[in-house]
Amino acid sequence: MNKALRKAVIAGNWKMNKTPAEAKELLDAIKPLVKDADCDVVACVPFVDLSVALEATAGSNVKVGAENCHWEPSGAYTGEISAPMLAAMQVPYVIIGHSERRTYFGETDVTVNKRVKAALANGLTVILCVGEYLEQREQGVTGEVVALQTKIDLQGVSAEELKRVIIAYEPVWAIGTGKTATAAQANEVCALIRATIADLYSKADADALTIQYGGSMNAKNAEELLDQPDVDGGLIGGASLKPEDFAAIVKAASR
Ligand code: PEP
Repeated sequence: MNKALRKAVIAGNWKMNKTPAEAKELLDAIKPLVKDADCDVVACVPFVDLSVALEATAGSNVKVGAENCHWEPSGAYTGEISAPMLAAMQVPYVIIGHSERRTYFGETDVTVNKRVKAALANGLTVILCVGEYLEQREQGVTGEVVALQTKIDLQGVSAEELKRVIIAYEPVWAIGTGKTATAAQANEVCALIRATIADLYSKADADALTIQYGGSMNAKNAEELLDQPDVDGGLIGGASLKPEDFAAIVKAASR
């Protein structure tokens, strides 16, 4: 009902795919296909592709994001990248708390919260991922799980900082599996996240928050998902690596 207050955001999550040369090629293919988009378009790419992605997208409407960042500004954290490092490169977006980070790399809501705060303190816009596992959905605790993640992940984030937060609702069972949540399921949980934000902040803050759905969104199902009143965009994995499919999703979000 307040969808008009929010800008739709379609973000690609490239995961661990594409060398720098391949990244340039993919972005060069995507750019002309999305140039008339009436939504924000973001490509979140592996760290090694950031430079080339920033160069390839300069002057276009495609923005670049990273896929994670550490909470400390620097130090003995082998293999990590800090928020000030991303800020120094003028990377505008970063995904935090993706379920693959939580599942394979032991990230918890406490570490996700630290990363969110570091990213925001350094001027980045955060795409914060939350979502339930299949067993949790089957146990009927999706709402509790997602509300708890939202509350812990945003602890200490001010209403002002919240303006640079996008929440991506990504049911873990739908990521990379080809099993999409129904439009009704996606909308129900996005609405619940919005209600949680209204409790934590205010109704106005909740109405202004962009909430994406992510999980096997593709060229065929995007329109129905994006038509839902509380679904303001998508976080796209597999389909973001296919220029025509990604562009079709951007088109669906631009209507
Ligand atoms: C993701 O990685 O955030 C995602 C939604 O992946 P996919 O679209 O492949 O399910």
